[in-house]
Amino acid sequence: MDGIIGFLIVLPYSLINRPIKLKFPLLAMAVAMLLDLDHFAAAHSFSISDAISIEAYPGTHSLTMAVIFPSIIYVWKHNFRVTWIVFLALLSHVIRDAGLWGVPLFFPFSSTIKLPYGLYLLVILALQQTIFYERRQHVRHFLQLCK
Ligand SMILES: [Zn+2]
Repeated sequence: MDGIIGFLIVLPYSLINRPIKLKFPLLAMAVAMLLDLDHFAAAHSFSISDAISIEAYPGTHSLTMAVIFPSIIYVWKHNFRVTWIVFLALLSHVIRDAGLWGVPLFFPFSSTIKLPYGLYLLVILALQQTIFYERRQHVRHFLQLCK
């Protein structure tokens, strides 16, 4: 489900650009899904039953890591769009898990925090709006040229 949410958050960005390319929504989907690999590391096992029965979410399910991982990508690739999409994918995953089960949101400075479900939905909708920011900048620039 996290992968689908990541895909849907970034999908409008691809739909408003021509030609339509699904590489960014698919990147968001992959990143959002890959984050759950930390369950296997925390369980020290490749077994799915071990991975889903860990007592608490590992620190990688946190806002801290949702900022650190994309920052590393930006330093490595110098590509703001990819960095932003990775950030949105990780953040949407962490916020969803925080809204449904609770995660160490401010790892290593906090224990498990569970967000109210309504706040989770609000943040997910707000994240999707951020993907249009770059497009709005282009429209604003175009309107200034028309004056
Ligand atoms: Zn997760």
